[in-house]
Amino acid sequence: MKSKVQLTCKNGALMKFWNETLKSMDEYMPGEQPRDIDEYIKLNTNENPFPPSEKVLRAINEAVNSSLRRYPDSQCIRLRETFAEQNGLTPENVFVGNGSDEIFTLIFRGLIEKNGTAAFNYPSYSLYDTLAQSNAIKYEKINLDSSFSPDMDKFIVNRYSMVIIANPNNPTGTFIDSGKIEKFLKAYSGLLVVDEAYVDFYGGSALDLVKRYDNLVVTRSFSKSYSLAGLRIGLAIANSDIIRGLVKIKDSYNIDTLAQAGATAALLDKKTFDYNINMLRSNKEYLEERLDDMGFERVPSRANFLLARHPKIGSGELYEKLKEQKILVRHFRGPVISDYVRISVGTMMELKKTCTVLGSILEGV
Ligand code: PMP
Repeated sequence: MKSKVQLTCKNGALMKFWNETLKSMDEYMPGEQPRDIDEYIKLNTNENPFPPSEKVLRAINEAVNSSLRRYPDSQCIRLRETFAEQNGLTPENVFVGNGSDEIFTLIFRGLIEKNGTAAFNYPSYSLYDTLAQSNAIKYEKINLDSSFSPDMDKFIVNRYSMVIIANPNNPTGTFIDSGKIEKFLKAYSGLLVVDEAYVDFYGGSALDLVKRYDNLVVTRSFSKSYSLAGLRIGLAIANSDIIRGLVKIKDSYNIDTLAQAGATAALLDKKTFDYNINMLRSNKEYLEERLDDMGFERVPSRANFLLARHPKIGSGELYEKLKEQKILVRHFRGPVISDYVRISVGTMMELKKTCTVLGSILEGV
């Protein structure tokens, strides 16, 4: 066996070739994906606990053939057509990203001037901060109130070139109805991005507003409701001019052939989709009831996760104690949010085990 050598810069120099922006920016911290993942009950990254549908797996398997020697369709035509048709849009209104994360990367790269200012809530999806920093774009964070209710009125109209809201918000699960979003759009001339990674669980999308407002981008993810986090597919829906801009700055072949096949099949398999959403909703109700019984305080959520804390134990400690028992939840650093843990909704078996362990942890404190 060859011995392994770790290559470093001369004299162990650090950040030698990094530019100033890279040096100064914070790192985005994704949730843990442990190596021995199957030994854990994994409730830390809001993945769907149910597998992708049989039809999706079959479509991906069928795409594993000799045509993989060819590049994928750079335009993702079938996937865009399918989504457009299901939603009364044209494919020119739909962009496909390598996860919705890639779409935010492109938005920060191409849809805001360098001297512009972005705004988003705190706490929210921390990738927005990372992307603003990596593009050297100024940003302001608008604190949610003590109940974590998002409020569009807190974004001073026309102070920002771009506002991003996650709706439902991550990590709180709180939600703004589309009437309030429309009221904001009526007064606002910058770009509003509504990140709907979690909207499928309880509905309330702002998608229809895209037909009336040319400064709105709605994004969707296949990572949660479609059980396809590993495939990396997200969509942006907007007027055709914005979509053309995103196409212009994307990598030529950003979506591989298997992902295109799987995501298209997922859109067409409404039956499995509806079944899984209903299961997750009732599992979430179970988790809510059990957390309430154990004396947790929790934030009302319209997503597949719950943000909760317990008066008897600090959330950092709770996270550690659960991890010792091979249960992963998410504990974030940062003001206010570090008081909580975020628990993704898993299968009923996972949740029952988790609640039993939570009960015994609480007995011991
Ligand atoms: N938006 C929000 C609010 C999220 O929580 C996440 C997942 N962490 C994403 C977007 C990213 O989704 P995707 O897997 O499609 O990149």
